[in-house]
Amino acid sequence: MRRVYMDHNGTTPVHPEVLEAMMPFFKEQFGNASSIHWAGREVKKYVDEAREKVASLLNASPAEIVFTGCGTESDNMAIKGVAFALKDKGRHIITTRVEHHAVLHTGQFLEKMGYEVTYLPVDRDGLIDLEDLRRSIKPQTVLITIMFANNETGTIFPVQEIGEIAREKGVIFHTDAIQAVGKLPIDLRRLPVDILSLSGHKIYAPKGIGAQYIRTGTKLMPLIHGGGQERNRRAGTENIPYIVGLGKASEIAQRDFPKRYDHFLALRDRLQEGILSQIPHVQLNGHPTKRLPNTLNLSFLCIEGESLLLNLDLEGIAVSSGSACTAGSSEASHVLLAMGVPPEVAQSAIRFSLGWANTQEDVDYVVEVLPRIVKRLRDMSPLYQRYVSSPK
Ligand code: PLP
Repeated sequence: MRRVYMDHNGTTPVHPEVLEAMMPFFKEQFGNASSIHWAGREVKKYVDEAREKVASLLNASPAEIVFTGCGTESDNMAIKGVAFALKDKGRHIITTRVEHHAVLHTGQFLEKMGYEVTYLPVDRDGLIDLEDLRRSIKPQTVLITIMFANNETGTIFPVQEIGEIAREKGVIFHTDAIQAVGKLPIDLRRLPVDILSLSGHKIYAPKGIGAQYIRTGTKLMPLIHGGGQERNRRAGTENIPYIVGLGKASEIAQRDFPKRYDHFLALRDRLQEGILSQIPHVQLNGHPTKRLPNTLNLSFLCIEGESLLLNLDLEGIAVSSGSACTAGSSEASHVLLAMGVPPEVAQSAIRFSLGWANTQEDVDYVVEVLPRIVKRLRDMSPLYQRYVSSPK
């Protein structure tokens, strides 16, 4: 059976060049980067090189990059790190209702510790009102944490404008750019962002490696205490093979960016048009244009997203209903609900997220298989029969 993977916002396969770059560090290059003997010195060089590559992808300085264990750790490090470092200045944090749970649950944890967190609402496209943000800032606000692009819908936030407001008010701005890195141009010499989180497995490096950009001078308390690694910002012996892998993935993301961007857009538009032209009663979730080039989130009215996902899986097609981290629970996506999507429409959502290795044939296969499945499921659905006889 043909297999098509369209869940790249969930995770990406390791790029062959990344794997190749990592291999020596599982074998002969086994040193500890903190050792001063030859084995340590040899690998330290590669850690430095990887840091330069991550910095270069973001147009930042290598000294501003810290390696972490994953994207979730980076988000935690930013939010708790600022909250704890500035607790005497103020204990108010602003975020949005559509963040990843790595941010939302960290916010909830801080609330239990006595902090106040404002969760900004979003509109039907998934965007915040900038005036609302401005009004929410108080003298006690120490951090604004708003994602660069949403993992479920792909909606892109106005990071430039948010950063300008944060600067004007003297508040630190963190952005979870885990879905944006490699898919959108990011220039941290121009963008007013103080802290930025990224994750390896969304950019063709392995799972279990992340990084954090911390603008020089930004106050942050370390999350993990121990040795003096990462200039005392993140203790623990460096995971050298994975750091090297993230460096290589960053180099490739920078090298192939224009090619990948055009490839994503062409395939995504073909997929979107193919589905919308053949299947009635399908709704696009997310901003129609301000959206990640690889992401397409659609609600197939009167069908359970989960059933659609399982039926696609039987045909070898891997997609996601809701975000991967909440999959398994049948609750509607918190992101879509926050956007005002009715629960039954949110429950019928499927996310297609393309990767660089997807082809036009993959898209055409999905467009061929999907209408059949949707028709079969709708034919069995009394809800659909009622809906078509009197659409809302
Ligand atoms: N933030 C966003 C927007 C994500 O999409 C993800 C992963 O799905 C994470 C955070 C968590 O990253 P990781 O899986 O590396 O912990």
